[in-house]
Amino acid sequence: MSRFKNRVAVVTGGAQGIGAATALRLATEGATVVVLDLNADGAKATAQQISAHREVVTAGGQAVAAVCDVTDEPAVDRVFEEIHNEFGRLDILVNNAGITRDNLFFKMNLSEWEAVVTTNLTSAYLCSRAAQRYMVPAKYGKIVCLSSRSALGNRGQANYAAAKAGIQGLTSTLAIELGPFNINVNSVAPGYIATSMTAATAERVGSSPAQHQEEVAARTPLGRVGQPEEIASAVAFFASDDSSYVSGQTLYINGGAR
Ligand code: NDP
Repeated sequence: MSRFKNRVAVVTGGAQGIGAATALRLATEGATVVVLDLNADGAKATAQQISAHREVVTAGGQAVAAVCDVTDEPAVDRVFEEIHNEFGRLDILVNNAGITRDNLFFKMNLSEWEAVVTTNLTSAYLCSRAAQRYMVPAKYGKIVCLSSRSALGNRGQANYAAAKAGIQGLTSTLAIELGPFNINVNSVAPGYIATSMTAATAERVGSSPAQHQEEVAARTPLGRVGQPEEIASAVAFFASDDSSYVSGQTLYINGGAR
């Protein structure tokens, strides 16, 4: 498939985990992908690996790295302008960058609250606002946001749940406001996916990643945790014209778990 031939995509937090898998998936279908991350070395290494991937070369895709803190308003505006200047278009934005700072609500301090809301939610506002400046005149765009199953509520994640529920409200509203410009906006809401984010959660609760994954798998109907590639394939659906009449939706991807 080469659904993204000649398309330019930005994946925030693309250096690792779900973002890296998404960047690879888009590039294997022909996209030029900007791997945008706080981690300069990580973004560069991931972009190099993607560009060298056999399927990416065959599809005519490529990946380049960009360093940006997605919570920094001027830096976000600047990097999107640079990307548009370099490639002449911007078709796809994946708002993927995110962090957790879990704590029980009565112990959660303001910096834990603000860090999570700013990195997971305000960043999506800043990046979507920057991206639509180029998508609206082109009358084409796909914005895909990472929400979470935790948006429905999760012990120790009041900050994260609020931010990820906020992503869903942002998604439905952007779909309404940007729809007239042929811009689709959707979200995916993963359950437990094996990445460094969930490995850190395991450590926090005094477990090993493998042991933690086993516990989660035992209460998941499909009997296992998810892999980043299984989120990337859904993001690619929303980023493609296969979902041309889908907008304002959130797809839960959690192995059948509630
Ligand atoms: P990872 O922690 O593996 O990757 C997140 C990436 O985002 C890292 O490379 C990180 O860089 C980057 N990042 C963090 N803050 C910023 C910032 N301010 N500016 C730019 N980049 C930043 O996370 P996952 O791959 O697990 O998660 C990706 C998304 O999916 C997140 O939004 C997460 O909330 C969501 N999600 C994940 C689930 C899971 O089970 N893994 C479940 C549900 C949703 P650095 O390493 O330098 O901090």
